[in-house]
Amino acid sequence: MKQTLQRITDNLSSFFSVVFSSAANQASAHNKLTRHIVALNKKTSSKEIINEVAVCLKDILGYRLFAFVVKKESGVDVWLDPRMYKNSLEDIILEDFKIRQEDLNYLNQNFEPGEFEEEFSLKNLVYYELGEENCYSRLYMLPQKSITVFHDEVVSLILQGCATALSKQIQMENLKDAAVVDPLTGCYNRREFENQINRHSATASRHGQPLSLFMFDLDYFKKINDTHGHLGGDLVLKEISLLVRDNMRTGDVLARYGGEEFIAILPETDKTKAMELADRLRAKIAAMRIPHNGTTIRVTASFGVSEYTPNTDMNKIIQDADTMLYKAKVNGRNRVMPGLIKICSPKEADKKTSMNLCNSLSTI
Ligand code: GH3
Ligand code: MG
Ligand code: MG
Repeated sequence: MKQTLQRITDNLSSFFSVVFSSAANQASAHNKLTRHIVALNKKTSSKEIINEVAVCLKDILGYRLFAFVVKKESGVDVWLDPRMYKNSLEDIILEDFKIRQEDLNYLNQNFEPGEFEEEFSLKNLVYYELGEENCYSRLYMLPQKSITVFHDEVVSLILQGCATALSKQIQMENLKDAAVVDPLTGCYNRREFENQINRHSATASRHGQPLSLFMFDLDYFKKINDTHGHLGGDLVLKEISLLVRDNMRTGDVLARYGGEEFIAILPETDKTKAMELADRLRAKIAAMRIPHNGTTIRVTASFGVSEYTPNTDMNKIIQDADTMLYKAKVNGRNRVMPGLIKICSPKEADKKTSMNLCNSLSTI
């Protein structure tokens, strides 16, 4: 790492001595670029690194960076100048990277004060590429005037610095992910769940906030494997975990607890709210149709819910959710325990026989 930085700094020195005649200009541009490249290597996320590149291009060349695209194993990160019509550049990126729109992960969408979406002619769009062992990126720019040798060299130097910083960052992200994430479903693994539950229960106690858990297990999953093969079963696990994650809040945590069993931490959520969420998820799972090898797989899940009470052993709360899950299984599966029942006023009960039409909620 140090050697790479040294190499970049040496390149900078020889380049600036050729391009700038005045010693003062030379020193100033050299200092700026060195400062930015050192800053790049202190950044701790891809987004921060890309933001630093944008600042550096503006600071030294007066360029606006339009898009920065980083292709990693887990998808494609895109930083896009919000002034740019998203769709015009998005089409180019999808074509260049041969990917689908759902693979894109936007790192920013914010306008700076006084900025709006504008129309740009993409006729003069240029891109620079950088390839490191574990990432490939492109930087798209729309220069105002023709690019000089000086501009070209500065961009190349910035990119060398950026490639080193990004590659280090991605290596760290991959290592971190491998330790905490279940590779099949992308959910946290059981060990990470244990770390997170300790952290969340401590926060809930400190702030006197509610905290709930739910566990769910897919029903008759062995039969799905037997009918659709192990790959069909794996696909179901992936699709269900995606569906559940998509329907939870950002601060909620979903982990794979065992084979086809998952557990979720719901911070700032009481038991009734947790049961409502679990029931919504149960219904969505039951309604899902998963296409596989020309057929459709359907699956249901049983849920157990429990709520944390301060000064209670967390294992007991997990055990409570497990006991409720077991009850949901013996009571016929495809249900949430404890379950919500709806209480009707006598007047309403006369008019409506369907429970779905009643208002207030209670639990069984
Ligand atoms: P129940 O409704 O009582 O939960 O019945 P079940 O068939 O879902 O439960 P059982 O414990 O009998 O079977 C679970 C099956 O899940 C058996 C196991 O092979 C399968 N399984 C566990 N992990 C995986 C996995 O990663 N991929 C696939 N395809 N199957 C898995
Ligand atoms: Mg099961
Ligand atoms: Mg199971």
